[in-house]
Amino acid sequence: MDCRQCWIRVHKKSVTSDKDISCYLSIRFFENFYKFFLLTWFILAPISSSAEEWVRAKWVPDGDTIVLENGDLVRYAGIDAPEINHKTNMAEPYGFLSREFNKKLVLSGKLRLEFDQQQQDHYGRRLAYVFLENGVFVNQILIENGYAFYLYQKANLKYHDLFIKKQQEAMEAKRGIWKNRREKAGQYIGNVNSKRFHTPDCTYGQKTLPKNKVIFKSSRDAFWKGYSPCGQCLSIGDFTYHDP
Ligand SMILES: [Zn+2]
Repeated sequence: MDCRQCWIRVHKKSVTSDKDISCYLSIRFFENFYKFFLLTWFILAPISSSAEEWVRAKWVPDGDTIVLENGDLVRYAGIDAPEINHKTNMAEPYGFLSREFNKKLVLSGKLRLEFDQQQQDHYGRRLAYVFLENGVFVNQILIENGYAFYLYQKANLKYHDLFIKKQQEAMEAKRGIWKNRREKAGQYIGNVNSKRFHTPDCTYGQKTLPKNKVIFKSSRDAFWKGYSPCGQCLSIGDFTYHDP
């Protein structure tokens, strides 16, 4: 009797001989093992994918991004640093300072990546919280020193309260981007859903549903509450003078 016949007999519960019984037990064993393997994989896969990962950075493009030794691009979750345009070598205020600060932190040793709900952005970059071997939290320390500001990401709220607290401390102490601030006159439209703020004439801002709309009398109020500039109508460069 071949295995196929045996399998059919086992599943039709027509086990009759000793040989059938041993075959039945073997098949049942492998089936149960397979089920156990699948169950374990389903339980452990989400845990392992959200677990930590040890890596090394080989290049630092700016204050909120690193390139790993394997070529992966990692974007720091929950923060935004002033931009650097790599084609023109032009940067927003504090863009180069932010990159230097980031470089000094992350290029000398191993890094631990920690992940939240959203692990990749729409550019395909990995989104992570980055820690040094000694436990220093890189995302936090960039905000704390005014080299980056808080960026609300709906699915990545693990350190939401901490980041806002550290940003408020940096604002009060006038560190980094908060040192030589300039305030554009007028009001801003905030969106409670996206936690972005806009100029009143921004088409994105105008699309904000009335129930989601909040008016800020200054950009400082908006930053203080964890809102960040829209990116289309406003950027951090609108509120900070150039590097000291
Ligand atoms: Zn806008």
